[in-house]
Amino acid sequence: MIGQRVRTRFAPSPTGYLHVGGLRTALYNYLFAKKMQGEFIIRIEDTDQGRKVEGAQKSLIKTLEWAGIVADESPEKGGKFGPYVQSERLDIYAGYCQQLLDDQHAYYCFASHEELEENRQLQIKQGLQPKYNRKWLPEEMGGSMPPSLIRKKLDEGDPYVIRMKVPDYISVWFEDIIRGPVEFDSATIDDQVLMKSDGFPTYHFASVIDDHLMEFTHIIRGEEWLSSMPKHLLLYEFFGWEPPKVAHLPLLLNADRSKLSKRQGDVAVEDYVRKGYSADAIINFVAMLGWNEGEGSEQEVYSMDQLIEKFSLERVGKAGAVFNVDKLNWLEKQYIKSRPGEKLIAVIKPILQAELEQKKSLMPIETITSDDYLAKVIELMRERVGFEHEFVTFSSYFFFEPESYDEEAVKKRWAVDTSVLLHEFTAILYTLEEFSAENIEAHLKEFVAPKSLKAAVLIHPLRIVTSGVSFGPSLYHMLEVLGKETVLRRIQKGIETISFQP
Ligand code: GLU
Repeated sequence: MIGQRVRTRFAPSPTGYLHVGGLRTALYNYLFAKKMQGEFIIRIEDTDQGRKVEGAQKSLIKTLEWAGIVADESPEKGGKFGPYVQSERLDIYAGYCQQLLDDQHAYYCFASHEELEENRQLQIKQGLQPKYNRKWLPEEMGGSMPPSLIRKKLDEGDPYVIRMKVPDYISVWFEDIIRGPVEFDSATIDDQVLMKSDGFPTYHFASVIDDHLMEFTHIIRGEEWLSSMPKHLLLYEFFGWEPPKVAHLPLLLNADRSKLSKRQGDVAVEDYVRKGYSADAIINFVAMLGWNEGEGSEQEVYSMDQLIEKFSLERVGKAGAVFNVDKLNWLEKQYIKSRPGEKLIAVIKPILQAELEQKKSLMPIETITSDDYLAKVIELMRERVGFEHEFVTFSSYFFFEPESYDEEAVKKRWAVDTSVLLHEFTAILYTLEEFSAENIEAHLKEFVAPKSLKAAVLIHPLRIVTSGVSFGPSLYHMLEVLGKETVLRRIQKGIETISFQP
């Protein structure tokens, strides 16, 4: 393996959405390959035809690409080791299976489901670990089934599966990059089905054949596959192939340390995308689920390039990683704070335009959709929003008239003289030539001082009438961005609509 270019793969089954655990597996494979200047490949494992979902393959690859994980070879891109979809490789598996049959490492099994289940129940009752009872193991392989009976069944066209024969009294040992040495006794390994009665290989068989033929150097996957390793290693042994290096990633856990489940929150990456999380934050978040840079590093925000530079399998922990959505939300905010204005404008504009098709705005459309205006809104709001789309939804008063006024705020802030004061102050605002934050602030202070009033008597009502809500960015800057015409119109409307509630 020395000198060989690193090749890793993500091998999802097209059964639906992309699980966050799947995204982490894909990401770690990608990061490791890219760090080593190697190749990252996507292979689709669709040997379980019953669970296959139409369109899942395309959407998995699309979601990965959205996240910035682009394969060097894949079903869509092709490559010299294709096809990259297992259902298109059936001839290959059949050939290798025949080889195992010829070499007496595999045998036909005609046991029915009922028979297998009965056997399983019996073993459980006896306190044994359920395993196939080897009824169909042929005489010449150390079993008791005469070859004539097997021949007869085959000739009659009875359905069968093909099983591997696990050698007796051996132990299978390997070194996991994350877990260190792992050992299994062959007595615990079942005679795994390699070929199913529908002519499709099982996951175990197909993935070993493909991992070898596609020349992967490292297999990085979830912990749930650790117990499959002995079967896989035996297959490598039967074929005389050198197995790749392996790394099994720690489990993802809910906050209560149970296995991450749909029940406790979203586990589909697509759900997070729909909610408005950005690829940067999701990738950053998922990267930290099991990996850290090591002691001495305080860094929490990493770009994909930084992750590629810093990632190492040695720094992936064994202990389960807790999936904490608060951390993701925090990261999302960090990204919004530092994302260049142009990037945000590119995201916000289409959302705003779609809103404008649904809802009428009293503001000049060319102004509020201009880069200049959006840039100002972004600077005022970027510390306050949780998601990019909130620049439109959460800050809608920058584009649309307030539809209502926060009742609590009105009750608290609207005094008996508020309308009169606002009315008087409007006259001052009207005369302002330069409608800037500083100028508005200076005039407001000049207006209240001789009346021995505090600025707050106008600040709060002004915010309510111009935004409809009681919180937001600096009022003076907000008024400047909204512009004189809009501000005067909204004050007028506010005075007409809101009344003092004693
Ligand atoms: N198809 C398997 C899965 O869905 C792949 C396991 C592996 O990486 O070997 O997770």
